Amino acid sequence: MTSPPQEERVRWGLSGSSLGNNRDSTRQHNLSTVLGLVHSMSGVSRAQLTRATGLNRSTIAALVGELVQLGLVVESDLDQAQGFGRPSIMIQPSPGALALAVNPDIDVVSVALVSLGGRIVNPVRFHTVRPPSVAEVVNIVTAVYTGMRTSLPAGHRIMGVGLAIPGLVDPVDGTVIEAPHLGWRDQPLSALLSDALKLPVIAANDAVVGARAQATFGAGRGVCDLVYLYGGASGIGGGVISEGRLVRGATGFAGQLGHTLVRSGGARCTCGSFGCLEAEVTREELIAAVGLPAGETENLEEAVLEKLRDESASQDLRRIIDRQVQLLAAGLRSVVNLLNPSLIVMGGFLRILVRAAPEALSEALRAPATRGPRENVAIELAPLGEDPILVGAAELAFEPLILDPAGFLRPQHDDGGTPIPVP
Ligand SMILES: [Zn+2]
Repeated sequence: MTSPPQEERVRWGLSGSSLGNNRDSTRQHNLSTVLGLVHSMSGVSRAQLTRATGLNRSTIAALVGELVQLGLVVESDLDQAQGFGRPSIMIQPSPGALALAVNPDIDVVSVALVSLGGRIVNPVRFHTVRPPSVAEVVNIVTAVYTGMRTSLPAGHRIMGVGLAIPGLVDPVDGTVIEAPHLGWRDQPLSALLSDALKLPVIAANDAVVGARAQATFGAGRGVCDLVYLYGGASGIGGGVISEGRLVRGATGFAGQLGHTLVRSGGARCTCGSFGCLEAEVTREELIAAVGLPAGETENLEEAVLEKLRDESASQDLRRIIDRQVQLLAAGLRSVVNLLNPSLIVMGGFLRILVRAAPEALSEALRAPATRGPRENVAIELAPLGEDPILVGAAELAFEPLILDPAGFLRPQHDDGGTPIPVP
């Protein structure tokens, strides 16, 4: 999610334009379109760019040339996979164009560099014995980033920092309004991190950025109506793409699907209510059921599925899974009725419930007879772990670059320089 001030800045830049500016704005638009395609397709041929944009070959060549000069794309070997016709030069995202992605959670701070094209370069999971404070997150990220920078290739450029927060984030200034599982309230983490790293920092809710990553690169690419649900240590978050756009709501807090009511009079939730999805369906219950030691949650999915296969030892676990699946299905039915998505992507520990009982979930989501089978919604698994969250967090930092590649890279945005000035 680009913070509104930057969107405003771009809009202002375009509004007071003269003829020359109009030409500049067309060029900016075309550069943005080409870079966006190279980025989301993680590499594309010149011929594909020509087809996708409707621009002629010489215009595409000039735009690609400018992006090469800016260090954002590289031209590589001819694309041999095309089959018929002349081979075409491939345009790849530059591996040196990077964003720092950060995702603090109750027992781990995940940090990774992500290159343009959504490729995670060197993820680091920094485990903590208790939920980290904001100051500790700043220290951890600064130390990890300092270590990472020593091994980066010459000519790399860090575009900014994307921060994925398991909680509510003010979409204007990036303040963490509330992250209940971390015990944070009104914390200026974005500003503190920006001061420490001397980089622009853009923050958003973790499941929302995960939804964006799925819509840009993952199972949801090209899907206009998509719901992404992510289950982590800090509960269940959601992101909604409707008619191709991320649903933000009046104040940016739409998609809190973890607080969908699934059981009247159920367990108390951190939001103060009772029987919310994230209060009833928890990762902790699964961890306890398979007896995994704290800090080894990376293996939770395989541990649960392994134990389920062992018929004699798995009765308690089977009961827990069945109960969680039923409650998740109840939540999903509300989501489907409200939003009518064509695809639901499940990430984090929710993958376990899909894999353990795929029939139960799709049965629960079968469209009512009155509406016909064409409205049945598909369920897909997000990639394992925090990868979609980290890739989505990096998208926050890449978005202003892709919106205006040449403008973003003017000298004030140099890696290690001052943060982007906000008008
Ligand atoms: Zn709740």
